[in-house]
Amino acid sequence: MYYESTRNNKLKKSFSEVLLTGLAEDGGLFLPKKWPKFSKKELVKFKKMNYQEIAFHVSKKFIGNEIKDSDLKKIILKSFKNFSKKEIASFKNLNDNKWLLELFHGPTLAFKDYALQIVGNLFEFILKKNKNKITIIGATSGDTGSAAIDACKNKSTMELFIFHPYKKVSNIQRRLMTTVNAKNIHNIAIKGNFDDCQRIVKKLFTDKYLKSVFSFSAINSINWARILFQIIYYFYFVSKINLKNKKFNFSVPSGNFGNVYSGYVAKKIGLPIDKLIIATNENDVLSTFTNNGYIKLKPVKQTISPSMDIQLPSNLERLIYDLFNKNNSLVKSHIEKLYKNKRIIINKKYLKKIQNNFKSSKVTESNTLLILKDFFLKNKIVLDPHTAVGIAAEKQCKIKKQPLVYISTAHPAKFPETIYKALKKKITLPNKYKYLLKSKESYKVINLNYNKIKNYIIEKSIFVKNV
Ligand SMILES: *Cc1c(COP(=O)(O)O)cnc(C)c1O
Repeated sequence: MYYESTRNNKLKKSFSEVLLTGLAEDGGLFLPKKWPKFSKKELVKFKKMNYQEIAFHVSKKFIGNEIKDSDLKKIILKSFKNFSKKEIASFKNLNDNKWLLELFHGPTLAFKDYALQIVGNLFEFILKKNKNKITIIGATSGDTGSAAIDACKNKSTMELFIFHPYKKVSNIQRRLMTTVNAKNIHNIAIKGNFDDCQRIVKKLFTDKYLKSVFSFSAINSINWARILFQIIYYFYFVSKINLKNKKFNFSVPSGNFGNVYSGYVAKKIGLPIDKLIIATNENDVLSTFTNNGYIKLKPVKQTISPSMDIQLPSNLERLIYDLFNKNNSLVKSHIEKLYKNKRIIINKKYLKKIQNNFKSSKVTESNTLLILKDFFLKNKIVLDPHTAVGIAAEKQCKIKKQPLVYISTAHPAKFPETIYKALKKKITLPNKYKYLLKSKESYKVINLNYNKIKNYIIEKSIFVKNV
């Protein structure tokens, strides 16, 4: 299996190269040259497999023979050892045809663990084999950072610099990152928003001087391997629900367009999915795009679902590449326009293609709080605010056809203030996490100043060459 870039369809990269470099040199995102397919017969076999076995069979099609089967299996088994549920992704039946798929049983209590635990171990495996060391830089709107840190802490082949927007992530989200005491982990709070953090990461990656002294890599959701291992839970869930010839709808709380794009890939490669609902909060770039075919970037609005407070969803470039039938120059001109003019508009025929696969709705904060309360009264389940956005968006989209799956992306205890506001109820952390509130934090606050940030990385790095 080989990979190309959204900016260059002639490129031919191996899975390991794609994993380690994250972003292509031309600034594009990696995608497989050809989509593998799963036949109905193969899908039937998944019925009897557990999560880890399905992860092996699905990822194998994208990795090919680059990693020995026995090694890939070992990596996958190791990656799910610290999950709190044996079934890894558990689900609750809400009524006959609606489910809540809980993806917060990993070590940092959000769905990002499901891919990042494996990605961390894959990095370590390949780097050890190649006798290499890398510096990972990543921006986080809250949950990616802690999941990446947990996946990479104390690994000898990597060091991490994680940027979060200062005072714009929840207390628990921050503490999950800043209380990890490991030599290879550096937390930086940037006085800006998530998009500022992401822009700095992109700039660091293309900095000529830094490129000469670092081996950089990305671990945020632009990394293909993250998309790949998020496909697994879609396959897992569908394989466990026995509905003959039915297509599933998924409602996915969205920000950077990673999770819901993974659902789109699952559909492309043969999973019976009808519509994917892109649920957005008041940062409504994705819903405006899906419903009207244009994007107009506004300043990021801080909401009670902080992991979705994003205006520039990186993975959208992957969808656009697909829509434009791999036409690199069209992709490039659109993305450049988006950066420069903060707006793009697409042709009606492309919009139709989007709407064949996606529906979308924007959910206000007051509606999110209402749904939290309503859902608790009806089902006795406390949702986190991101998941509540997913449920509200589905109601607003008025999809009549079922079955329907709500993806639950985080544990509610990560957002106690919001839960209290909605339910007048104190939610406590699972016992295993009580230490978080007492442990000492360590992070550096830096102004939104490129050179200051760059110098800090050079100063703190243990892997930097010849300085
Ligand atoms: C990251 C995150 C999202 C958004 O997912 P994307 O893949 O960025 O669209 C939603 N909810 C939670 C809890 C998250 O951590």
